[in-house]
Amino acid sequence: MQNDYSTILGARSTDLEFYTRVMMVVALCGVTFGLAFGLYHLFWGNQLLSLVLLPVVCLQIITVYLLKKNGFSRFAAWTIALLQTAATIFYSLEIGIEASYWLFASGVANYYIVDRKVALSFNAVACFVIAVYALGEPAIAIRYAASFVMINIFLFSFARQLEKKNAQLDHMLTVDPLTMAGNRTALEAALRRVKSQYDRHETPVSLIMIDLDHFKRINDTHGHSEGDRVLNRIATLIKKRLRPTDSLFRFGGEEFIVITENTHLNQAAYLAEDIRKRVESDVDDQRKHAGDALTVSLGLAQLRGNEAADDWLGRADKAMYKAKAMGRNWICFDADTSADQTGNPSGTASTL
Ligand code: GH3
Ligand code: MG
Ligand code: MG
Repeated sequence: MQNDYSTILGARSTDLEFYTRVMMVVALCGVTFGLAFGLYHLFWGNQLLSLVLLPVVCLQIITVYLLKKNGFSRFAAWTIALLQTAATIFYSLEIGIEASYWLFASGVANYYIVDRKVALSFNAVACFVIAVYALGEPAIAIRYAASFVMINIFLFSFARQLEKKNAQLDHMLTVDPLTMAGNRTALEAALRRVKSQYDRHETPVSLIMIDLDHFKRINDTHGHSEGDRVLNRIATLIKKRLRPTDSLFRFGGEEFIVITENTHLNQAAYLAEDIRKRVESDVDDQRKHAGDALTVSLGLAQLRGNEAADDWLGRADKAMYKAKAMGRNWICFDADTSADQTGNPSGTASTL
Protein backbone atom coordinates (compact mmCIF):
# COMPACT_ATOMS: atom_id res chain seq x y z
CA MET A 1 0.00 0.00 0.00
CA GLN A 2 1.12 3.51 -0.69
CA ASN A 3 0.82 4.55 2.94
CA ASP A 4 3.82 2.38 3.86
CA TYR A 5 6.16 5.37 3.95
CA SER A 6 8.92 6.07 6.38
CA THR A 7 11.44 8.86 7.03
CA ILE A 8 13.20 10.08 10.16
CA LEU A 9 9.88 11.70 11.12
CA GLY A 10 7.95 8.48 11.50
CA ALA A 11 7.39 4.96 10.31
CA ARG A 12 4.46 3.49 8.38
CA SER A 13 2.56 6.65 9.03
CA THR A 14 -0.80 6.84 7.34
CA ASP A 15 -0.65 10.61 7.48
CA LEU A 16 0.70 11.23 4.01
CA GLU A 17 -0.53 14.83 4.11
CA PHE A 18 2.02 15.42 6.86
CA TYR A 19 4.86 14.09 4.69
CA THR A 20 3.61 16.20 1.80
CA ARG A 21 3.84 19.34 3.94
CA VAL A 22 7.36 18.43 5.11
CA MET A 23 8.44 17.90 1.49
CA MET A 24 7.00 21.26 0.54
CA VAL A 25 8.83 23.02 3.40
CA VAL A 26 12.14 21.43 2.36
CA ALA A 27 11.59 22.23 -1.33
CA LEU A 28 10.52 25.83 -0.59
CA CYS A 29 13.65 26.33 1.55
CA GLY A 30 15.69 25.12 -1.41
CA VAL A 31 13.76 27.48 -3.71
CA THR A 32 14.34 30.51 -1.45
CA PHE A 33 18.07 29.98 -1.04
CA GLY A 34 18.59 28.69 -4.57
CA LEU A 35 16.81 31.72 -6.01
CA ALA A 36 18.77 34.20 -3.88
CA PHE A 37 22.15 32.65 -4.71
CA GLY A 38 21.16 31.93 -8.32
CA LEU A 39 20.22 35.61 -8.94
CA TYR A 40 23.33 36.85 -7.16
CA HIS A 41 25.57 34.69 -9.34
CA LEU A 42 23.63 35.63 -12.48
CA PHE A 43 24.37 39.33 -12.07
CA TRP A 44 27.57 39.53 -10.01
CA GLY A 45 29.15 36.13 -9.63
CA ASN A 46 29.64 32.81 -11.37
CA GLN A 47 27.13 32.68 -14.24
CA LEU A 48 27.64 28.96 -14.85
CA LEU A 49 26.45 28.42 -11.28
CA SER A 50 23.31 30.47 -11.87
CA LEU A 51 22.63 28.44 -15.04
CA VAL A 52 22.45 25.34 -12.83
CA LEU A 53 20.82 26.84 -9.73
CA LEU A 54 17.95 28.66 -11.49
CA PRO A 55 16.68 25.60 -13.46
CA VAL A 56 16.94 23.56 -10.23
CA VAL A 57 14.81 26.24 -8.54
CA CYS A 58 12.25 26.00 -11.40
CA LEU A 59 12.11 22.20 -11.06
CA GLN A 60 11.61 22.50 -7.29
CA ILE A 61 8.77 24.99 -7.87
CA ILE A 62 7.12 22.56 -10.34
CA THR A 63 7.49 19.75 -7.77
CA VAL A 64 5.87 21.89 -5.05
CA TYR A 65 3.03 22.76 -7.44
CA LEU A 66 2.46 19.07 -8.25
CA LEU A 67 2.57 18.15 -4.56
CA LYS A 68 -0.03 20.82 -3.83
CA LYS A 69 -2.22 19.67 -6.71
CA ASN A 70 -1.90 15.88 -6.47
CA GLY A 71 -0.82 15.30 -2.88
CA PHE A 72 1.81 12.85 -1.66
CA SER A 73 4.18 11.22 -4.13
CA ARG A 74 7.34 9.17 -3.59
CA PHE A 75 8.62 10.41 -6.92
CA ALA A 76 8.37 14.02 -5.70
CA ALA A 77 10.32 13.14 -2.54
CA TRP A 78 13.10 11.54 -4.58
CA THR A 79 13.12 14.46 -7.02
CA ILE A 80 13.53 17.04 -4.23
CA ALA A 81 16.31 15.03 -2.56
CA LEU A 82 18.09 14.42 -5.86
CA LEU A 83 17.87 18.05 -6.97
CA GLN A 84 19.14 19.49 -3.71
CA THR A 85 21.98 16.96 -3.47
CA ALA A 86 23.03 17.57 -7.09
CA ALA A 87 22.87 21.36 -6.63
CA THR A 88 25.03 21.09 -3.48
CA ILE A 89 27.64 18.96 -5.25
CA PHE A 90 27.78 21.33 -8.20
CA TYR A 91 28.00 24.37 -5.91
CA SER A 92 30.94 22.88 -4.01
CA LEU A 93 32.72 21.88 -7.21
CA GLU A 94 32.36 25.40 -8.62
CA ILE A 95 33.12 27.46 -5.49
CA GLY A 96 35.53 25.12 -3.77
CA ILE A 97 35.65 22.74 -0.82
CA GLU A 98 34.88 25.54 1.67
CA ALA A 99 31.35 25.84 0.17
CA SER A 100 30.57 22.22 0.90
CA TYR A 101 28.96 23.16 4.21
CA TRP A 102 25.77 23.28 2.13
CA LEU A 103 26.12 19.52 2.07
CA PHE A 104 25.17 19.48 5.76
CA ALA A 105 21.90 21.31 5.11
CA SER A 106 20.86 19.16 2.13
CA GLY A 107 22.18 15.99 3.78
CA VAL A 108 20.07 16.50 6.92
CA ALA A 109 17.00 17.52 4.87
CA ASN A 110 17.26 14.28 2.87
CA TYR A 111 16.57 12.25 6.03
CA TYR A 112 13.33 14.19 6.50
CA ILE A 113 11.86 13.46 3.10
CA VAL A 114 13.14 10.06 1.92
CA ASP A 115 13.84 6.69 3.51
CA ARG A 116 17.02 6.65 5.63
CA LYS A 117 18.74 4.21 3.23
CA VAL A 118 18.01 6.43 0.25
CA ALA A 119 19.15 9.53 2.18
CA LEU A 120 22.38 7.76 3.18
CA SER A 121 23.04 6.71 -0.42
CA PHE A 122 22.52 10.23 -1.81
CA ASN A 123 24.73 11.69 0.94
CA ALA A 124 27.46 9.06 0.43
CA VAL A 125 27.66 9.92 -3.28
CA ALA A 126 27.82 13.66 -2.54
CA CYS A 127 30.50 13.16 0.14
CA PHE A 128 32.58 10.92 -2.12
CA VAL A 129 32.50 13.31 -5.09
CA ILE A 130 33.42 16.33 -2.97
CA ALA A 131 36.16 14.45 -1.08
CA VAL A 132 37.75 13.25 -4.32
CA TYR A 133 37.55 16.76 -5.76
CA ALA A 134 39.23 18.23 -2.66
CA LEU A 135 42.15 15.79 -2.57
CA GLY A 136 44.44 18.75 -3.29
CA GLU A 137 43.60 20.04 0.19
CA PRO A 138 43.58 16.78 2.14
CA ALA A 139 43.34 18.30 5.63
CA ILE A 140 40.17 20.25 4.78
CA ALA A 141 38.72 17.34 2.77
CA ILE A 142 39.23 14.95 5.68
CA ARG A 143 37.63 17.36 8.16
CA TYR A 144 34.57 17.86 5.96
CA ALA A 145 34.23 14.19 5.10
CA ALA A 146 34.72 12.99 8.69
CA SER A 147 32.20 15.40 10.19
CA PHE A 148 29.72 14.62 7.42
CA VAL A 149 30.13 10.88 7.98
CA MET A 150 29.61 11.44 11.70
CA ILE A 151 26.37 13.36 11.10
CA ASN A 152 25.14 10.58 8.80
CA ILE A 153 25.92 7.84 11.32
CA PHE A 154 24.04 9.81 13.95
CA LEU A 155 21.02 10.52 11.73
CA PHE A 156 20.88 7.02 10.25
CA SER A 157 20.96 5.22 13.60
CA PHE A 158 18.59 7.75 15.16
CA ALA A 159 16.18 7.20 12.25
CA ARG A 160 16.39 3.44 12.72
CA GLN A 161 15.60 3.57 16.44
CA LEU A 162 12.80 6.04 15.86
CA GLU A 163 11.42 3.86 13.09
CA LYS A 164 11.14 0.89 15.47
CA LYS A 165 9.54 2.98 18.22
CA ASN A 166 7.12 4.60 15.81
CA ALA A 167 6.15 1.23 14.34
CA GLN A 168 5.28 0.04 17.88
CA LEU A 169 3.35 3.21 18.64
CA ASP A 170 1.62 3.12 15.27
CA HIS A 171 0.55 -0.45 15.98
CA MET A 172 -0.75 0.43 19.44
CA LEU A 173 -2.62 3.42 18.10
CA THR A 174 -4.26 1.77 15.13
CA VAL A 175 -4.72 -1.95 15.84
CA ASP A 176 -7.40 -3.48 18.05
CA PRO A 177 -5.49 -5.81 20.43
CA LEU A 178 -8.28 -8.41 20.68
CA THR A 179 -8.92 -9.02 16.98
CA MET A 180 -5.83 -7.48 15.34
CA ALA A 181 -8.20 -5.62 13.01
CA GLY A 182 -7.75 -1.87 12.52
CA ASN A 183 -9.41 0.24 15.23
CA ARG A 184 -11.58 3.38 14.90
CA THR A 185 -8.55 5.64 14.46
CA ALA A 186 -7.30 3.47 11.61
CA LEU A 187 -10.80 3.37 10.13
CA GLU A 188 -11.10 7.16 10.12
CA ALA A 189 -7.70 7.51 8.44
CA ALA A 190 -8.67 4.89 5.84
CA LEU A 191 -11.99 6.62 5.16
CA ARG A 192 -10.20 9.94 4.62
CA ARG A 193 -7.69 8.29 2.30
CA VAL A 194 -10.17 6.38 0.11
CA LYS A 195 -12.46 9.41 -0.01
CA SER A 196 -9.69 11.70 -1.28
CA GLN A 197 -8.61 8.98 -3.75
CA TYR A 198 -12.19 8.77 -4.99
CA ASP A 199 -12.48 12.55 -5.30
CA ARG A 200 -9.31 12.61 -7.40
CA HIS A 201 -9.56 9.49 -9.56
CA GLU A 202 -13.14 8.28 -9.07
CA THR A 203 -11.90 4.75 -8.33
CA PRO A 204 -14.87 2.73 -7.05
CA VAL A 205 -14.72 1.80 -3.38
CA SER A 206 -17.22 -0.23 -1.38
CA LEU A 207 -17.82 -0.78 2.29
CA ILE A 208 -19.18 -3.86 4.05
CA MET A 209 -20.61 -3.53 7.55
CA ILE A 210 -20.58 -6.86 9.40
CA ASP A 211 -22.39 -7.57 12.66
CA LEU A 212 -22.32 -10.87 14.51
CA ASP A 213 -25.78 -12.33 15.03
CA HIS A 214 -27.03 -12.91 18.56
CA PHE A 215 -23.51 -12.55 19.87
CA LYS A 216 -24.74 -11.70 23.35
CA ARG A 217 -25.95 -15.29 23.67
CA ILE A 218 -22.40 -16.61 23.28
CA ASN A 219 -21.24 -14.40 26.13
CA ASP A 220 -24.23 -15.32 28.24
CA THR A 221 -23.98 -19.06 27.58
CA HIS A 222 -20.24 -19.67 27.30
CA GLY A 223 -18.71 -16.72 29.13
CA HIS A 224 -17.05 -13.48 28.13
CA SER A 225 -13.64 -14.98 27.40
CA GLU A 226 -15.23 -17.46 24.99
CA GLY A 227 -16.92 -14.42 23.37
CA ASP A 228 -13.48 -12.80 23.03
CA ARG A 229 -12.08 -15.93 21.40
CA VAL A 230 -14.96 -16.04 18.92
CA LEU A 231 -14.44 -12.37 18.01
CA ASN A 232 -10.78 -13.07 17.33
CA ARG A 233 -11.58 -16.20 15.32
CA ILE A 234 -14.11 -14.43 13.10
CA ALA A 235 -11.76 -11.50 12.48
CA THR A 236 -9.03 -13.98 11.47
CA LEU A 237 -11.47 -15.83 9.23
CA ILE A 238 -12.47 -12.60 7.45
CA LYS A 239 -8.88 -11.40 7.13
CA LYS A 240 -7.84 -14.63 5.41
CA ARG A 241 -10.39 -13.97 2.68
CA LEU A 242 -9.29 -10.34 2.01
CA ARG A 243 -6.98 -9.07 -0.73
CA PRO A 244 -4.13 -6.64 -0.03
CA THR A 245 -6.37 -3.78 -1.20
CA ASP A 246 -9.09 -4.68 1.31
CA SER A 247 -8.86 -3.72 4.96
CA LEU A 248 -10.66 -4.90 8.07
CA PHE A 249 -11.60 -2.67 11.01
CA ARG A 250 -13.35 -3.32 14.30
CA PHE A 251 -16.08 -0.70 14.32
CA GLY A 252 -17.71 -1.56 17.64
CA GLY A 253 -17.98 -4.45 20.10
CA GLU A 254 -19.01 -7.17 17.64
CA GLU A 255 -19.20 -5.06 14.48
CA PHE A 256 -16.58 -5.04 11.75
CA ILE A 257 -16.10 -3.03 8.58
CA VAL A 258 -14.34 -4.08 5.40
CA ILE A 259 -13.25 -1.33 3.03
CA THR A 260 -12.67 -2.83 -0.36
CA GLU A 261 -10.82 -0.58 -2.79
CA ASN A 262 -11.16 -0.60 -6.57
CA THR A 263 -14.35 -2.55 -6.10
CA HIS A 264 -17.87 -1.98 -7.38
CA LEU A 265 -20.85 -2.90 -5.25
CA ASN A 266 -21.49 -6.07 -7.28
CA GLN A 267 -17.93 -7.34 -6.70
CA ALA A 268 -18.15 -6.42 -3.01
CA ALA A 269 -21.33 -8.52 -2.84
CA TYR A 270 -19.35 -11.63 -3.86
CA LEU A 271 -16.90 -10.93 -1.05
CA ALA A 272 -19.71 -10.31 1.46
CA GLU A 273 -21.48 -13.50 0.45
CA ASP A 274 -18.26 -15.46 0.79
CA ILE A 275 -17.65 -14.04 4.27
CA ARG A 276 -21.23 -14.89 5.26
CA LYS A 277 -20.81 -18.49 4.05
CA ARG A 278 -17.41 -18.94 5.70
CA VAL A 279 -18.71 -17.83 9.08
CA GLU A 280 -21.80 -19.99 8.71
CA SER A 281 -19.73 -23.06 7.90
CA ASP A 282 -16.99 -22.48 10.46
CA VAL A 283 -17.54 -26.07 11.57
CA ASP A 284 -15.40 -26.13 14.71
CA ASP A 285 -17.18 -23.24 16.30
CA GLN A 286 -20.61 -24.37 15.14
CA ARG A 287 -20.04 -27.71 16.84
CA LYS A 288 -18.78 -26.07 19.99
CA HIS A 289 -21.71 -23.71 20.21
CA ALA A 290 -24.39 -26.25 19.24
CA GLY A 291 -27.69 -24.45 19.37
CA ASP A 292 -26.00 -21.01 19.07
CA ALA A 293 -25.21 -21.01 15.35
CA LEU A 294 -22.60 -18.39 14.51
CA THR A 295 -23.73 -16.18 11.65
CA VAL A 296 -23.24 -12.60 10.50
CA SER A 297 -25.48 -9.97 8.93
CA LEU A 298 -23.88 -7.74 6.33
CA GLY A 299 -24.75 -4.34 4.82
CA LEU A 300 -23.09 -2.98 1.70
CA ALA A 301 -22.72 0.47 0.18
CA GLN A 302 -20.53 1.89 -2.60
CA LEU A 303 -19.16 5.41 -2.15
CA ARG A 304 -20.99 8.02 -4.24
CA GLY A 305 -19.70 11.29 -5.64
CA ASN A 306 -19.90 14.21 -3.15
CA GLU A 307 -20.92 11.86 -0.36
CA ALA A 308 -19.47 12.39 3.12
CA ALA A 309 -17.79 9.36 4.69
CA ASP A 310 -20.32 9.41 7.55
CA ASP A 311 -23.25 9.18 5.13
CA TRP A 312 -21.55 6.31 3.33
CA LEU A 313 -21.12 4.48 6.64
CA GLY A 314 -24.70 5.32 7.56
CA ARG A 315 -26.03 3.71 4.37
CA ALA A 316 -24.06 0.50 5.01
CA ASP A 317 -25.29 0.50 8.61
CA LYS A 318 -28.91 0.88 7.48
CA ALA A 319 -28.44 -1.98 5.03
CA MET A 320 -27.00 -4.14 7.81
CA TYR A 321 -30.00 -3.44 10.03
CA LYS A 322 -32.21 -4.40 7.14
CA ALA A 323 -30.38 -7.75 6.98
CA LYS A 324 -31.06 -8.14 10.71
CA ALA A 325 -34.73 -7.32 10.18
CA MET A 326 -34.94 -9.95 7.45
CA GLY A 327 -34.02 -12.59 10.00
CA ARG A 328 -30.18 -12.30 10.13
CA ASN A 329 -27.51 -14.20 8.14
CA TRP A 330 -28.30 -12.03 5.10
CA ILE A 331 -26.42 -9.53 2.99
CA CYS A 332 -28.30 -6.37 2.02
CA PHE A 333 -27.62 -3.22 -0.01
CA ASP A 334 -28.65 0.20 1.15
CA ALA A 335 -32.26 1.02 0.34
CA ASP A 336 -31.48 3.56 -2.42
CA THR A 337 -29.29 1.28 -4.51
CA SER A 338 -30.75 0.59 -7.92
CA ALA A 339 -29.34 -2.97 -8.04
CA ASP A 340 -31.13 -5.76 -6.19
CA GLN A 341 -31.79 -4.49 -2.75
CA THR A 342 -31.15 -7.72 -0.99
CA GLY A 343 -29.18 -10.87 -1.62
CA ASN A 344 -26.36 -11.12 -4.09
CA PRO A 345 -26.78 -9.53 -7.55
CA SER A 346 -25.16 -12.59 -9.14
CA GLY A 347 -28.26 -14.52 -8.25
CA THR A 348 -26.77 -16.58 -5.42
CA ALA A 349 -29.04 -15.02 -2.89
CA SER A 350 -28.13 -15.12 0.75
CA THR A 351 -30.32 -17.31 2.82
CA LEU A 352 -31.11 -17.78 6.39
P1 GH3 B 1 -27.89 -8.87 17.06
O1 GH3 B 1 -28.05 -10.13 16.29
O2 GH3 B 1 -29.10 -8.03 17.08
O3 GH3 B 1 -26.69 -8.10 16.62
O4 GH3 B 1 -27.66 -9.33 18.58
P2 GH3 B 1 -26.35 -9.23 19.42
O5 GH3 B 1 -26.55 -10.01 20.66
O6 GH3 B 1 -25.16 -9.61 18.58
O7 GH3 B 1 -26.23 -7.68 19.67
P3 GH3 B 1 -26.24 -6.81 20.98
O8 GH3 B 1 -25.94 -5.42 20.53
O9 GH3 B 1 -27.50 -7.02 21.76
O10 GH3 B 1 -25.05 -7.36 21.85
C1 GH3 B 1 -23.74 -7.24 21.49
C2 GH3 B 1 -22.92 -7.96 22.51
O11 GH3 B 1 -21.55 -7.94 22.20
C3 GH3 B 1 -23.05 -7.32 23.87
C4 GH3 B 1 -21.64 -7.25 24.41
O12 GH3 B 1 -21.56 -7.84 25.66
C5 GH3 B 1 -20.85 -8.03 23.40
N1 GH3 B 1 -19.50 -7.52 23.26
C6 GH3 B 1 -19.15 -6.30 22.81
N2 GH3 B 1 -17.79 -6.17 22.82
C7 GH3 B 1 -17.30 -7.36 23.30
C8 GH3 B 1 -15.98 -7.84 23.53
O13 GH3 B 1 -14.97 -7.17 23.33
N3 GH3 B 1 -15.87 -9.10 24.03
C9 GH3 B 1 -16.97 -9.89 24.27
N4 GH3 B 1 -16.78 -11.10 24.73
N5 GH3 B 1 -18.20 -9.44 24.05
C10 GH3 B 1 -18.39 -8.20 23.58
MG1 MG C 1 -24.68 -8.37 16.89
MG1 MG D 1 -23.87 -4.80 17.11
